[in-house]
Formats: sequence, structure tokens, C-alpha cells
Amino acid sequence: MAPKHFGIAGAGIAGLSFGILALLDGHKVDIFDQFEKPLAVGSGFVLQAVSFAVLDEMGILDDVLKYGAELSGLHGREANSDQVILDVRFRKGRFGIGIQRATIHSILLKRYKELGGQLNMGLHVSSLEASKIITENGQSFGGFDLLIDARGSGALRSFRQKSSLKYGALWWNVPTKDNSKWLRQRYLGASNMLGLMPMNTHPNNPTPQSAMFWSLKCSDYEEWMVGDFSQWKEEAANIWPEFGDNLENVKKEEIHFSEYIHDKRKTPYQDNCVCLGDSQQASSPQLGQGANMAILDSFTLIWAFRTYGFQDGPMRYAKARKMHREFYQFASFLFTPLYQSDSRFLAGIRNYILAPLSINKLSNVVLERLVLGNIVTPIYGEKRFFDKGIENAIGKKMNL
Ligand SMILES: Cc1cc2nc3c(=O)[nH]c(=O)nc-3n(C[C@H](O)[C@H](O)[C@H](O)COP(=O)(O)OP(=O)(O)OC[C@H]3O[C@@H](n4cnc5c(N)ncnc54)[C@H](O)[C@@H]3O)c2cc1C
Repeated sequence: MAPKHFGIAGAGIAGLSFGILALLDGHKVDIFDQFEKPLAVGSGFVLQAVSFAVLDEMGILDDVLKYGAELSGLHGREANSDQVILDVRFRKGRFGIGIQRATIHSILLKRYKELGGQLNMGLHVSSLEASKIITENGQSFGGFDLLIDARGSGALRSFRQKSSLKYGALWWNVPTKDNSKWLRQRYLGASNMLGLMPMNTHPNNPTPQSAMFWSLKCSDYEEWMVGDFSQWKEEAANIWPEFGDNLENVKKEEIHFSEYIHDKRKTPYQDNCVCLGDSQQASSPQLGQGANMAILDSFTLIWAFRTYGFQDGPMRYAKARKMHREFYQFASFLFTPLYQSDSRFLAGIRNYILAPLSINKLSNVVLERLVLGNIVTPIYGEKRFFDKGIENAIGKKMNL
């Protein structure tokens, strides 16, 4: 395919990933972002094994392994009874990577700049039309062969207006206190959850950090903001006394509230614009797949250009991603109310029927692949590429 000029709205996971891959293939890229300086908002997330092959292709897997924390699985217990509710163990050698948002953002940004990508900051993009990116204050940037909407879930929300889930979560960082390789959670029914996930370091800060999160109804957030902070800390610490001291030093202004969205656009491309990541489809982070989706979308669009050429690329991208995306959105939709809802009935089903069923070897194989992100192959017919990425990462990790 002859070199093209891509105009991308959004310097998040999807925008930067696609930018890097396009530059590596010899294209020209301009990214536009609303912030004056590159900024990663929020705490952190898991990069699941399914995305390792793409991170390697981008040339950033070594840095991700170096600065992220290896995760061996997920473990959750009911606070009152101490009953094990969730126990997903990755097979020997397999892992996910817990990583700070600021870390993955700085790794992506460094690579993008190294490859000569252009960044246009402080520009709030209001529309993408024909070959032009148009900003809120009326500036227009044109001449692009294709536009990419990578503005995240905000773009999806402004398009749909009614997609927020009932529960979101408070997220904050704490210094890591132990060597656990597990993402751990404590539940009180389905309406309270306190979680802890190791994320390791940032290139500019060698102190290992973990993310903590507390499930909160969106409608209760304003009350939480004006409410008694010490009382909330006590309540949260009570459901997990072992890690309650992590709450002692946290300040209210360090806590970030995230709403979760469950929605998608009918088609990921229209006219001269392709949507990647959350701007196309967003889910609750219960299965920890959103950042992977952004990375896999970006790779799939590049793969479609390489395989089918420029004209058919967007349509082939949409087809190739449909099954994996829809499967994970549906699975997140099924799982979320078991962990975040007002329903005692669903918490009961989770505790007394699903938990005992899930804690055996056979279910673990299914749950492991569900969490690692490859229970369905991200691009049909390309399973080997993604499996090889996991094998490479295991080899690299052993040599670190
Ligand atoms: C609390 C929380 C926990 C999560 N945990 C996980 C997890 O464990 N694993 C996982 O894989 N995913 C997780 N996710 C989801 C993941 O963060 C997102 O799916 C992922 O960041 C999507 O990437 P993106 O590039 O599409 O959007 P984003 O990363 O949100 O990037 C969007 C970019 O667009 C810019 N932008 C937005 N609007 C405009 C505009 N109008 N003009 C210009 N620029 C604009 C923003 O500044 C930003 O830089 C979690 C999400 C949340 C909220």
C-alpha cells in the first residue's frame, strides 16, 4: 500500500498504538488531543496476554515487561464468610501485566515520538468530516487520506447519550506493600467491593505502586464527595482489615471516580472515518479487556490495510474484529451485575452456585482464557500470531 497520511483524534491507548503501527509501515501520522500536555488520567489496568504480540510488534513489549507487574491470576473472597468467590489461576509461565496508566502512556508516547509522529496538543476535536479534523474553536486541519476517531468513551457517549452503567468505581494509587502477583478483591454482597492490583513502577518514579478500587454507584458519587471521608475510609477498611491500612494516607483529591459505559456504535467506520478502542465500543472493566481492545483494534486496522489494501481495509477491519469484540462485550455484560449491582439474589447465585462451580481445574482453563483475552481469536485465522506473542513474552520475562 502506498504511504498515506492519517489524522487521529485522541492520544490515548488506541490513537498512539495505531499511530506507532502506521509509522512503522511508512505512513505519515498527525495526532490531535484535547490536553495541553500529554496526560494519562486514572490509576491503571491490566494488559492481558492477548495483546503481547502487538506490543512486541510496536517495539514496546520489553518496556511494558520492565515497568509493569506480572499478574498470576485473580482472587476474590466474600468479606464476612471469607469464602473464595473467584480464583482464576494462569497456567505456569502465563501472566497478565498490571500497569500504571501513566506508565503505558509514557512508553507509547516515547515510541511514537521516536518514530517521528506529530502531536498537536490543546485541541478539542468536535468533529471529523471528509478529510478534515475540526476543533471546538473552529480550527480545521485537512489533507488527510483517512481520519481515525480514538477519542475514547466520551466520543461514544456524546453519540449515544444513555450508556452509563449504574455502578462505577473510585480508583487511587498506593505504594505496594507485598510481593503478591495477584489481583485481589473483597466483596460484601454485590454492592461493595474493595480491590488491590499491583502495577509496579513508572520510568520517573522507582517506587512500586498498586491500584486500589472501591465500587460506587454513580448516583452516590456527589454524596461521597461532600461526605465524611474518615467514615468512608473506615467502612472500606472494614471489609478488608488486612489491607485497610492502605487507606490511611490517601487524600480525597488523589481519588479518581470512573463511570463505566456499556455501548457500541452500529458500524466502526463511516465515510472517511474509522473508530478504534472505546470510541467504537466500551464495556465495564470487569473482565479487564478495554485497553486490549484498543490495542487489538489498532493492529487489526493495520493488518487489514496490509492484507486487503487501503480501500477495503476499514470494512475488513470491522469484519475481523466483530466476533472477539462482541463476545467480550456480552461476557462483561453477564459478569458485571454479579460483582457490581444492588441485587442480593445475584450475589447469592455468585456465592452459592457459580463460585463452587468455578473452583475446579476444567472451569479454570475456560476462565483463564477468558481473562487472558484469547478465548476467541482476535482476528479469525491469525491465532498463531497471538499465541507466538504470548510465548515470546514468557521467554523475555524469564530473561529479565
Ligand atoms: C477505571 C477503569 C479501569 C479499567 N481497567 C481496565 C483493565 O484492567 N484492563 C483493560 O484492558 N482496560 C481497562 N479499562 C478500560 C481502558 O482504560 C479503556 O478501554 C482504554 O483506555 C481505551 O483506550 P482508548 O484509546 O479508546 O481511549 P482513552 O485511553 O480513553 O483515550 C482517549 C484519548 O482521547 C482524548 N480525547 C477525548 N476526547 C477528545 C476530544 N474531543 N478532542 C481531542 N482529544 C480527545 C483523551 O484526552 C485521551 O487522550 C478500564 C477503564 C476504567 C475507566
